[in-house]
Amino acid sequence: MPLLDEKTQTQEFIETEEKYGAHNYHPLDVVIERAQGCWVYDVEGKKYLDCLAAYSAVNQGHCHPKILEAMLQQAHKVTLTSRAFRNDQLPLLYKELHDLTGFEMALPMNSGAEAVETAVKAARKWGHKVKGIPDSKAEIIVCANNFHGRTVTIVSFSTDEQYRDGFGPFTPGFKIIPYGDAAALRQAITPNTCAFLVEPIQGEAGIVIPPPGFLKEATEICQQNRVLFIADEIQSGLGRTGMLFAYMHEGIRPDAIIVGKALSGGFYPVSAVLASKEVLGVFNPGDHGSTFGGNPLACAVARAALRVLVEEKLPERSAELGTYFLEKLRTLRSPDLKEVRGRGLWIAIELHSEARPYCEALKEEGILCKETHDHVIRIAPPLTITREEIDWAFERIRKVIEKG
Ligand SMILES: *Cc1c(COP(=O)(O)O)cnc(C)c1O
Repeated sequence: MPLLDEKTQTQEFIETEEKYGAHNYHPLDVVIERAQGCWVYDVEGKKYLDCLAAYSAVNQGHCHPKILEAMLQQAHKVTLTSRAFRNDQLPLLYKELHDLTGFEMALPMNSGAEAVETAVKAARKWGHKVKGIPDSKAEIIVCANNFHGRTVTIVSFSTDEQYRDGFGPFTPGFKIIPYGDAAALRQAITPNTCAFLVEPIQGEAGIVIPPPGFLKEATEICQQNRVLFIADEIQSGLGRTGMLFAYMHEGIRPDAIIVGKALSGGFYPVSAVLASKEVLGVFNPGDHGSTFGGNPLACAVARAALRVLVEEKLPERSAELGTYFLEKLRTLRSPDLKEVRGRGLWIAIELHSEARPYCEALKEEGILCKETHDHVIRIAPPLTITREEIDWAFERIRKVIEKG
């Protein structure tokens, strides 16, 4: 790069990105070059408190030293074996996931969407081979306003028109019910239903918490009808809501869960489906796979990321500091404010008007947030945030919200 003053450098990066890259995102115009903990630094040297945490992939904080160390150590040894051979990290990740979560087995993938696809395949195959649903007839029930990723099959059951526009033909076999409606779930089930796939709290929809008792009732309905209850915990899981997993708030036990994002603390894409032997046992050699899934670098990173979650008690921190933050945010007063809600350090500020201008204004104050759909500001900092940093953030959020 030629020597440019910093402002111009920011513009140059943005122009290069816009010129040579597909425009499938509309990012805030901040060009980040490094990060540590809850803070990110742009190319002009300005620092910002990260209140998005990469959609909860960096629950452990940016560039956590212990995860970094595990990644470097492993990168020196071996990074990729493919599953054609075994490696000495994958069995340990399996065991540690089992010990931490109680699920019998895991199947590792890379991105969240791949793990959702894996869960869909597992549910369908279980439906056919174990439940006895005729081949190619299995149905999966999902909820309106869901977000489970971006593959063709996954957008086939999205209710967001933009996610689908122009991408058909779509994958059949999905039924959509209103989120939080147990009666609708009961009605939608047929003898061909193999699974109910649900976010315990809907993230991308705007941190939508279902009515109390819904998840419990839904698991009971699923059990009565021999339907798998699959929780997508990719964003809600691994401490974000103040417990290890969001489903735990209702004391239930899903048949399968999907994890990703913070499973790597943001270093590397690592995802997995966790389930019983009965469910994951349907896969035989050659049925499903991924070149990078379960690679030793990913496993070493995930093992360290899980250790950090436990050692630093991040779910407990999230519960305590989330309550603290939420109580403060509930004191905000503005005619534009519709609702403040949340669980753990996963908080939605819902407005009557567009959220984007507020996010732009927060950026000027040194806080990075992203609007979720049109009217929600999502506050989801790394779970390592301190009380003092919350106080600091709150004063700035108050200034921006109350100014309107
Ligand atoms: C982010 C997310 C996904 C998709 O994960 P990717 O890694 O982006 O493919 C799926 N489900 C939920 C609930 C998510 O938040």
